Amino acid sequence: MNSNQDCIAKEDILIVDDNPDNLYLLSKMLAKKGYRVRTASNGQMALTAAQAVAPDLVLLDIMMPDIDGYEVCANLKADPNTAEIPVIFLSALTDTFDKIKAFAVGGVDYVTKPFQLAEVLARVQNHLALRAAEIAKKELNYQLEERVKERTTQLEAANCELKREINERKLLEAQLLKMALHDSLTNLPNRVLFMERLIQALNCSKQHQDYQFAVIFLDCDRFKIINDSLGHPVGDELLIALARRLETHLDSQATLARLGGDEFAILLVNIETITTATKLANTILQALAIPFQLKRYEVFINASIGIALGNCDYEQPEHLLRDADTAMYRAKTLGKGQYQIFDPAMHHATLQALQLENDLRRAVKQQEFIVYYQPIIDLKTGMIFGFEALLRWHHPQKGLVSPSVFISVAEETGLINYIGNWVLGEACRQLQLWHQEKVTDYPLTMSVNLSVKQFAQLDLIEQIDRVLAQTQVNPRFLKLEITESVIMENDKAAGIVFQKLRERNIQLSIDDFGTGYSSLSYLHSFPVDNLKIDRSFVQRLDGNPENLGLIPTIISITKALGMKAIAEGIETPEQLAQLRILDCHFGQGFLFSKPLPAKQATNLIFLAPRW
Ligand code: C2E
Ligand code: MG
Ligand code: MG
Repeated sequence: MNSNQDCIAKEDILIVDDNPDNLYLLSKMLAKKGYRVRTASNGQMALTAAQAVAPDLVLLDIMMPDIDGYEVCANLKADPNTAEIPVIFLSALTDTFDKIKAFAVGGVDYVTKPFQLAEVLARVQNHLALRAAEIAKKELNYQLEERVKERTTQLEAANCELKREINERKLLEAQLLKMALHDSLTNLPNRVLFMERLIQALNCSKQHQDYQFAVIFLDCDRFKIINDSLGHPVGDELLIALARRLETHLDSQATLARLGGDEFAILLVNIETITTATKLANTILQALAIPFQLKRYEVFINASIGIALGNCDYEQPEHLLRDADTAMYRAKTLGKGQYQIFDPAMHHATLQALQLENDLRRAVKQQEFIVYYQPIIDLKTGMIFGFEALLRWHHPQKGLVSPSVFISVAEETGLINYIGNWVLGEACRQLQLWHQEKVTDYPLTMSVNLSVKQFAQLDLIEQIDRVLAQTQVNPRFLKLEITESVIMENDKAAGIVFQKLRERNIQLSIDDFGTGYSSLSYLHSFPVDNLKIDRSFVQRLDGNPENLGLIPTIISITKALGMKAIAEGIETPEQLAQLRILDCHFGQGFLFSKPLPAKQATNLIFLAPRW
């Protein structure tokens, strides 16, 4: 009870009554109960007191002169500072007391005079408790609102964070998607995206019979040389520059993709005729005539272009790309820097090449190769000086197949390494046999052709050493024939190999001389022993001194550089005579003999013919 009294002791009650007895009585009773009590004997005083310090409860007499209780109450309620204070009306039984009005102006209760003090106290305590509960409720509400606000702010922040994360993820997804569908170097669509678009175009053509589209396949010519000589970073720079230049010639409908390496593809959709594609191909070829200005270098790059016209006849998108690729390949073999339109015959040729490849693999397994030997004549003595080993393929169905038919396929498939090594072994074995049997009273020489591809092998010298060791042939009498392309394509590596050949006293001949590159500077820097004048020059010799062409020049080069000239493809006595006049060292051709199997070649040696 004590603590209860302590608690209410602080509460402040304002008693308003014009009757001093009432004031006295009530204040005495309430003060006794521990309340702080203030009194006011009229309405105005009451308002002033309430405004000065807001009481916790007002006991308000109704009947007062000047301002009556209703009005005081109404005033208190009108002021926000006092509006919440509970007002209990005091009314005499005799008063005409309007309860409705009392509640209407904001009173919470009333007591009638004469007072029963216990009743007054009970009502006062009730309303103070109610008021306290009200305040506590408000406080709780306030706290609740604050917490709700706080939580809302937290939720909003979390929401914001979530949104940010979602956006980030979407961005990442978009980036990943872009990465999956684009080439990182040039930023162009990659093969996957290109195929997707190709499928769309193909579907369109299935739905609309007259819908046409085209695939343009572009491959840089001799890009490898740029990569090898200027380095990969320059190669990359060039690819980017090329991509940007190609883009400038395309409309927004076209898809330009990098398929890999130096290969690009363009998809032209909804075109009227193939002319749209050929025009573009021409434009691109012209655009490539302008050099690329890279950071450190100015570079020219040419391209070979293949075009395949797409229509509903195609079943697979890959077939279109394959056909455009085939046409590009044709453009390359026809001399690069041009475009070709696919026609089904090309596909047929590719299939044939594939068949040839299979046959060739079988031929290696079944040992269907033979080496023929064609004599090389010393034009001064007219006697056989040596032989050139020439490969033949004994095809079970086609009979004897010439190397010109299959060497390129053997090179592309890498089979040439095995075959070439085999030819070298055979030729050296045959030469050693001739040397041992002393078929001539001077040592014959043996020329063996080496492919560009063989030169790219790291163990070429080891292979040659192995053959030399196995056959015991004297390397001095071995001549290796290479074309100028070996030097052009393997420049640095070739130099090292040449040096090693020189150390072994093996001779080096440049085959088909005059048909390849125009630069002769390599003749100074590489240890070349012989130049073989190409058949095409020799065949122009017809007795007329005006048709000597390059032959005198080539012969004088060999003389100036201490080399020997060998004329290939001599077929007529006139050609022979003229070459003799020009003082050509050696000759080879059908006039003397066609390439022969070993046995017949041996017979020829024994015949010891003289031309
Ligand atoms: P090549 O090295 O220039 O060989 C000369 C070619 O001319 C041979 O053709 C030969 O039969 C032919 N020939 C010789 N004299 C005459 C003539 O008077 N008139 C005509 N019309 N042709 C003549 P073959 O044997 O068909 O070889 C063609 C090419 O194949 C060779 O040209 C050579 O580059 C390559 N080859 C041949 N055997 C091998 C080999 O074992 N390895 C490599 N890598 N290539 C080889
Ligand atoms: Mg040759
Ligand atoms: Mg030749």
